[in-house]
Amino acid sequence: MNELLYLNVMEIRENLRAKEFTAEELTKAYLERIDETETRVHAYLSVLRDEAISAARAADDRIRTGDQDFPLLGIPVAVKDLLCMKDTKTTCASRFLENFEAPYDATAVGRLKDAGAVILGKLNMDEFAMGSSCEQSAFGPTHNPWNLKTIPGGSSGGSAAAVAARSCVVSLGSDTGGSIRQPAACCGVVGMKPTYGRISRYGLIAFASSLDQIGPFANNIQDAAILLGAVSGHDPRDSTSADEPVPDYTDDLEAGVDSMKIGIPKEYFIEGMDPEVETAVREAIAVFEEQGAEIHEISLPHTEYALPVYYILAPAEASSNLARYDGVRFGVRKKGDSTFGSLFGMYAASRENGFGDEVKRRIMLGTYALSSGYYDAFYTKAQKVRTLICQDFKAAFENIDVVLSATAPTPAFEIGERLDDPISMYLSDILTIPCNLAGLPGISQPCGFTSGGLPIGLQLVGKPFAEKTILQAAAAFERATKHHEALPPL
Ligand code: GLN
Repeated sequence: MNELLYLNVMEIRENLRAKEFTAEELTKAYLERIDETETRVHAYLSVLRDEAISAARAADDRIRTGDQDFPLLGIPVAVKDLLCMKDTKTTCASRFLENFEAPYDATAVGRLKDAGAVILGKLNMDEFAMGSSCEQSAFGPTHNPWNLKTIPGGSSGGSAAAVAARSCVVSLGSDTGGSIRQPAACCGVVGMKPTYGRISRYGLIAFASSLDQIGPFANNIQDAAILLGAVSGHDPRDSTSADEPVPDYTDDLEAGVDSMKIGIPKEYFIEGMDPEVETAVREAIAVFEEQGAEIHEISLPHTEYALPVYYILAPAEASSNLARYDGVRFGVRKKGDSTFGSLFGMYAASRENGFGDEVKRRIMLGTYALSSGYYDAFYTKAQKVRTLICQDFKAAFENIDVVLSATAPTPAFEIGERLDDPISMYLSDILTIPCNLAGLPGISQPCGFTSGGLPIGLQLVGKPFAEKTILQAAAAFERATKHHEALPPL
């Protein structure tokens, strides 16, 4: 592997400033890496070669003139294909949006550009972000760089796999029920879902609007912190974006965890958890203790309801958000206008043709939960239980700073293994979903490997807007263990 591909964001910035290499050379090294790995990994849905080279040249011009105070200047990044990027295909990994070119930049994409980043391309995902394996992509699955027979996790599987394969430095994904943290765990990288409202979702194709959040993937905590800082902040175009100041997330990463109070929820060591995952998490707890953290057993008593609540609320919101794909306003219209019989027939034929099976399943689940006569029994009740789950966290956070658990109950599974069994697929997110329901920030970082060489992820969840605290804790763990330095056998 080209030695430029080992560098982290700070090292790249220093080298660019010292004129050790140019942003163009770096970008070309990444484009070559993409050519070398993509036939096996398939993390990208589109590679924006010409745009990337021009952005790199623009970065080099800035560096030459000394105008270089941008957090991601010349850094090759990539984004999940549900973030709009002007004049670029944004497919959401759906046949329905196969030809959709976004007319504007998502705020997060605009902020990447403003920060000087070089956007290499758009990354694969489960269709409309519904899935945990990246197998629901209409354009074929992504493969896990650690073992190409296994899934990279999902739905942001391309974002995780590209970072793991070193075919971009950092990436953006989105997380509605675990779609950043679970693939990060599967691919042995860092992935963070910030607090609901931390990053503007303007230009993010919506799945479940009360849960969706954009976040960073990186090979180490500092890179994740830099990317988070670059894209965070209030945006008048997203009414749910929070008007909270954005701190420098890279400050105090050295602060350590001395006397930090870490809560271990007893409900998170669930039946069916892989014993190697449990062992790795228990070892991680011991590492935190050695570093001076106080470990407390806690209870989040409504945890068992999180998955069923999510599978009412998320599909309900999805059924509403996806109503706009009708073959008229958005989506490829099914050919054969004269045979549909009615306008509704044309919508139905286009939706039947455009959406994949999992998306259809979610729309049906959601429409059912919202239908008259069932609304109170399902939707309203789920909202009430969601409140109880939020209250569990609130009570726990009166005595602790961070909640620690495994990210996913099992490591990456084989491609195809859970495809015919939606419930077993849904169980992949059992430990990540509560954090979305409560709107809290959560991070996954590597904490070891199975005997078969697959990465295991550790999850840390914090109080609202306490991204700094969990980054600090994660950085302390990273320094103590160095699991993040391992490279996949690609
Ligand atoms: N796997 C979960 C689902 O399919 C979460 C997806 C996500 O976070 N976007 O709904």
